[in-house]
Amino acid sequence: MNVSSQTWIVVADDPAVTALVVAARALSAEVTAVVAGRRATAESVAAAGVDRVLWLGEPAEGTPVEAYAPDVARTVADGAPRAVLGSSDGAGRVMLGAIAALLQAPVLSGVIAVEHDGDQIGVTRSVFGGVAERRDLVTGGPAIIALAGGDVGDPSGAAVPVEEVTANPLTTGRLTGVRKKEKAPVNLGAARTVVAVGRGLKAKADLALITGLADAIGGELACSRPLAEGVDWIPKERNVGISGQQIAPELYVAIGISGQLQHMVGVRDAGVIVAVNSDKAALIFKQCDYGIVGDLYTVVPALTAALAPKP
Ligand SMILES: Cc1cc2nc3c(=O)[nH]c(=O)nc-3n(C[C@H](O)[C@H](O)[C@H](O)COP(=O)(O)OP(=O)(O)OC[C@H]3O[C@@H](n4cnc5c(N)ncnc54)[C@H](O)[C@@H]3O)c2cc1C
Repeated sequence: MNVSSQTWIVVADDPAVTALVVAARALSAEVTAVVAGRRATAESVAAAGVDRVLWLGEPAEGTPVEAYAPDVARTVADGAPRAVLGSSDGAGRVMLGAIAALLQAPVLSGVIAVEHDGDQIGVTRSVFGGVAERRDLVTGGPAIIALAGGDVGDPSGAAVPVEEVTANPLTTGRLTGVRKKEKAPVNLGAARTVVAVGRGLKAKADLALITGLADAIGGELACSRPLAEGVDWIPKERNVGISGQQIAPELYVAIGISGQLQHMVGVRDAGVIVAVNSDKAALIFKQCDYGIVGDLYTVVPALTAALAPKP
């Protein structure tokens, strides 16, 4: 395939694209956007500082934006750009995956920065859940890159016309409804005291022990990831760590938590860390200010009884 020096962005019905446009501009002077979704989205993108907008037409009622993935892929392949940028959200990944399949090129995911490096494209990626960064050079083309989308400032330049291209969206799936994800009303970031529990807890019903201590000392409940994403005993909003909340309470009590890096990154700004763990060799004892070696089923009720406000 003859690869041009252009950079294209693909947009799946999300008008917040200036982060993609800024990244695309770092790679080439000319930026083309392919937009699947409503006309209003295409018009917003046309005013977001791109040189050209190719729009796949108004989706029929019930047609999910992902149904346009083959059309997006064909349109991009026809343009033969050097780099294709899309957002790393669900719909963005579907689009990039379809392009990668058609062009038989890999998708670089988790990208946080792109730049020219001579004739090559330098790509910085977040790896190990954000603990480290890795830089790769894309020597061939095209580079298919998923990075965080969103808006990073006001768009620059005049709006360009929206060019409609013919599309044949898939008809195999229908959108029957959109449900907003419910979020638990929790603000761990503002909490002065946080009591977190991990896999040391044996049963969901035993959470009452932990909430009992949290109530006794006026703390918010938090957890390690396995309790939020493994057994789902606690809402994800209460997961502390690299893929959850990063918090800075004055007091952090970690109960039955081993102290893995991915968890402890979330409390590196905590004032005082107290750990309760039955394994005296647990990693967390190297990272806490006060450690209690013992079974949480004995220690936590004792702490609660000692610390609860007396009538
Ligand atoms: C990309 C990536 C992102 C991640 N993000 C996060 C994140 O955001 N947050 C997070 O927490 N983890 C995260 N993890 C997972 C992380 O690596 C650990 O697996 C996790 O933190 C372990 O949780 P835990 O300490 O509760 O469980 P375990 O490591 O299983 O530890 C349980 C602890 O409980 C103790 N225990 C057992 N029974 C008792 C008892 N009766 N009384 C007292 N103590 C007891 C054990 O001695 C042990 O130390 C991530 C991992 C990856 C790969």
